Amino acid sequence: MKKKVIVIGSGIAGLAASIRLKSKGYEVEVFEKNSNVGGKLSDFYIDNFRHDFGPKLFTMPELVEELFENAGVNIDKYFKYEKLDIACKYFWCDGLTFNAYSNNQKFLNEVNKNFNKEENKVKSYLIKSKNKFNLVKRIFLEKSLHKFSTYLSFDAIKAIFNILQLNIFISLDSLNRRYFRDEKLIQLFNRFATYNGSSPYLTSGIMSIIQHLEHDLGVFMPKKGISDISYSLHNLAIDLGVKFYFNSEIDQILIKDKSAVGVVINKIHHKADIIISNMDVNLTYDRLLKGLKKPFFIKNYQPSSSAVVFYWNMNKSFSDINVHNIIFSKDQEKEFDYIFNKKSIYNDPTVYICSTSKIVKEDAPDGCENWFILINSPFDNGQDWEIIKKELRNNIIKKINSTLKVNIENNIINEKILTPVDIETETLSKFGSLYGSSSNSLQSAFVRHPNFSKNINNLYFCGGSVHPGGGIPLCLNSAKIVSEIIN
Ligand SMILES: Cc1cc2nc3c(=O)[nH]c(=O)nc-3n(C[C@H](O)[C@H](O)[C@H](O)COP(=O)(O)OP(=O)(O)OC[C@H]3O[C@@H](n4cnc5c(N)ncnc54)[C@H](O)[C@@H]3O)c2cc1C
Repeated sequence: MKKKVIVIGSGIAGLAASIRLKSKGYEVEVFEKNSNVGGKLSDFYIDNFRHDFGPKLFTMPELVEELFENAGVNIDKYFKYEKLDIACKYFWCDGLTFNAYSNNQKFLNEVNKNFNKEENKVKSYLIKSKNKFNLVKRIFLEKSLHKFSTYLSFDAIKAIFNILQLNIFISLDSLNRRYFRDEKLIQLFNRFATYNGSSPYLTSGIMSIIQHLEHDLGVFMPKKGISDISYSLHNLAIDLGVKFYFNSEIDQILIKDKSAVGVVINKIHHKADIIISNMDVNLTYDRLLKGLKKPFFIKNYQPSSSAVVFYWNMNKSFSDINVHNIIFSKDQEKEFDYIFNKKSIYNDPTVYICSTSKIVKEDAPDGCENWFILINSPFDNGQDWEIIKKELRNNIIKKINSTLKVNIENNIINEKILTPVDIETETLSKFGSLYGSSSNSLQSAFVRHPNFSKNINNLYFCGGSVHPGGGIPLCLNSAKIVSEIIN
């Protein structure tokens, strides 16, 4: 008889795990508390404008392709995407703009144009980041760090012998200062710390591998918008025979003789041979495994940063901006001090603007745009988000107006605002953190919760709050690791 798997949550990792296990021959059921799939990677409409709830940047599309290949299905019927020429357009308050191309050589040409004394340094930085990425990819990103066998591989031995090249023991900011003189370049390469919810002044220099994904491997956009990754995987899972139950919040994981044997929902027991939690791992312990001792490294973890997001329907098209845009703060150090120490938001924050309607034409009516403005923020610590929201809205409008030489206030025809509290409520992510724990210390960067329980048999974990970390590519890898360790 086929073994039965229950997946708790249909975030990107839950969907990928369900597909991988179904492809391996298991009977799979997914229980989702919301009425739709995707968790943070989902979308909604304000009037006739489509907005993505969370992620905007899509890198490493081969990880999505692999799910279709494994299932023996042609991806073209389900999912199409294209590479963006410009990964991100950067703006500084003094008027300098910089197009960060997806193509490595074009990126270097742009560096030459704007920071010509630094071109060789940037070139060497990009090569070294690529080497670091290739050294850690197989062991850190694709394997469980909590299995002895991982350390017996050729890849692990190679990484250990080259450990000094990985810049593990200095901060990302210190590494960037070793390479570059220009504060603007340091600011640009520092910003990648936010991709795992950390501060460049605290997180390890190994995080310089993150920019390699954008400036070498490239940034992509699905033809129907980024949330289509979730919807396409959902369609694939349904076609393979995975069963989905929506509006179904799991209340408890059933444990018998130190093994997970099922789940409870509305007092009804559902038996299974294997349970995979795609729920935030901290909340899985708090709510579904009451009475079970929390492992040390999640008991003392520091949550990653969160975000305040403004979703704006704009009645105009803006020719100066690209799909992804950053307007930098004048003082990056202060900005991160506010997020991680003062637990508040600096009055001159870095502003991320994304307008997917520039490339996905159906996302907004003709001549209009769907703006997504993200400001990095502390996790929810009881702050008064109503006051923060109001001040922030004024500050960012002022900043956008003065940098882009526009007057956008009258162009916003409808809006929704998301705070860390909303992120916690809507996706059950503790404190509204975007990536589970921050990677501000070496321990939190490398020793996240394993993809399996060390105390309970048949209990596994995937998603942004466990190994290898948050963000779409790592979540997809967490599902791959789980499916490989389940026999
Ligand atoms: C504003 C924002 C911007 C981001 N930007 C990017 C980006 O540009 N690029 C990038 O790669 N990543 C980005 N991220 C991070 C990325 O979205 C996440 O790392 C990733 O989507 C998390 O996926 P997950 O599989 O962990 O599940 P989640 O998306 O956290 O979903 C978990 C699912 O489980 C369900 N669930 C929870 N508990 C239960 C229960 N008890 N019973 C049933 N169902 C339950 C939830 O309802 C939810 O649907 C961003 C996130 C946010 C919020």
